[in-house]
Amino acid sequence: MKTNLNIKPLNDWGLPKSDRPLIIAGPCSAESEKQVLETAIKLREKDIFIYRAGIWKPRTRPGHFEGVGSKGLAWLKKVKEETGMLVCTEVASEKHVYEALKYGVDMIWIGARSTANPFVVQDIANALDGVDLPVLVKNPVNPDLELWKGAIERIHAAGINKIAAIHRGFSTFGKTNYRNLPTWQIPIDLKTEIADLPMINDPSHIGGKREFIHEIAQKAMDLNFDGLIIESHLNPSCALSDAQQQITPDELDAILHALVMRKPNGQSKETMQELITYRKQIDDFDKALMAVIEERMEVVKKIGKFKKDNQMTILQSSRWEQIIEKHLTDGSNRGFSEKFINRLFKAIHQESINFQTKIMNEQAG
Ligand code: PEP
Ligand code: MN
Repeated sequence: MKTNLNIKPLNDWGLPKSDRPLIIAGPCSAESEKQVLETAIKLREKDIFIYRAGIWKPRTRPGHFEGVGSKGLAWLKKVKEETGMLVCTEVASEKHVYEALKYGVDMIWIGARSTANPFVVQDIANALDGVDLPVLVKNPVNPDLELWKGAIERIHAAGINKIAAIHRGFSTFGKTNYRNLPTWQIPIDLKTEIADLPMINDPSHIGGKREFIHEIAQKAMDLNFDGLIIESHLNPSCALSDAQQQITPDELDAILHALVMRKPNGQSKETMQELITYRKQIDDFDKALMAVIEERMEVVKKIGKFKKDNQMTILQSSRWEQIIEKHLTDGSNRGFSEKFINRLFKAIHQESINFQTKIMNEQAG
């Protein structure tokens, strides 16, 4: 459902003008004054204007580096004075907001664990009442679009209109390539539901390893994200937090220069016309697909009635296994991935079960 919020487009935030997407970079954590300043100077040389550094670090388990606390804010202030960069840090409580404001932090972000907790978000929103400060809202750790939207709405209700979303991926159980699942459909849906909401991608926390940063950042650019927030450390392997995913300012610069920037709209009228023609074909195929699925469901209903009359169960596992087996082979011959075939037929099968359950539960008469 569309939500009407008065969000200021990124171009009107008064940020330094640049012909590339908004880039926020800096270490996962502020570790020492020297590290904070030297990293900032290096990044500024690479035309980065917005600096990030975590001062209070939310760690999943105790016993790890939990940030330097308020004294790091003085280091960020120094970064502003010495490099002219804007500085940005994470807040997770009212006290953090007051401290950040006291030291002139230019932008704050709400971390994934905080976004998942409406009490925390509301506390932060209350502390921001009447303040004109850009707020970046990371997605919650769990893949819940409503929770993400709710956090944005709470901040907006405090009178903030410079709000952007940061897509940092979603926690998952079990082993995966990436540290967090990107589930791109969620930020895409958020963008559709809240007009003008700037979208920033965080390839560092999605990937969890430096070798993935480039491909995730490219994907974000291809999906028309407005910016990137990337962790950068002078000596990544010695970082006190997130060592595996940090990259040096030089590596960051190389990735940013290698990114291919595509435009949402083609340059000439002719290219757009070609695209419109293809889209029309896609629309026609989608319509035909829906009609076929509808016809299929008519047969499903007949089977439902048959099973009901003959006291048979809806689910017959062997039949379902046969269907999926057959389509996996056929799909692979057609060049479709196993994941796609599984998802497609599971979705169709689930809807068939829903139709049949309805028939089973209909009262006679
Ligand atoms: C961070 O940006 O360093 C951080 C802790 O991020 P997240 O809230 O996405 O885990
Ligand atoms: Mn981090």
